Amino acid sequence: MNYDYLVVGAGLFGATFAYEAAKRGKRVKVIEKRDHIAGNIYTKEVDGIQVHQYGAHIFHTSNKEVWDY
Ligand SMILES: Cc1cc2nc3c(=O)[nH]c(=O)nc-3n(C[C@H](O)[C@H](O)[C@H](O)COP(=O)(O)OP(=O)(O)OC[C@H]3O[C@@H](n4cnc5c(N)ncnc54)[C@H](O)[C@@H]3O)c2cc1C
Repeated sequence: MNYDYLVVGAGLFGATFAYEAAKRGKRVKVIEKRDHIAGNIYTKEVDGIQVHQYGAHIFHTSNKEVWDY
């Protein structure tokens, strides 16, 4: 199969790029070495609590459009 883009890593950047490129009709292959997506912002549910596995993250924006996205 042919692809327009090969994205290495399904973190915030790779996942967003792949999503936007696919929306525009591009064929994208994403490879990820970890067993989950989201890169360093990944959270894992432990006893009903979302634990930030790679360190605490705060989403710094007051922009509603960005937040909703
Ligand atoms: C402890 C900590 C706290 C932070 N706190 C904040 C915060 O409060 N607010 C904020 O805005 N930002 C914060 N950041 C920064 C934020 O995590 C990054 O800006 C953001 O996650 C970067 O996204 P990224 O997609 O560029 O990279 P990453 O999230 O690093 O994703 C890269 C992905 O690529 C994969 N990968 C790498 N090499 C390969 C390979 N050879 N093959 C396949 N896959 C590969 C990795 O496994 C990973 O999943 C923090 C970062 C850390 C480490």
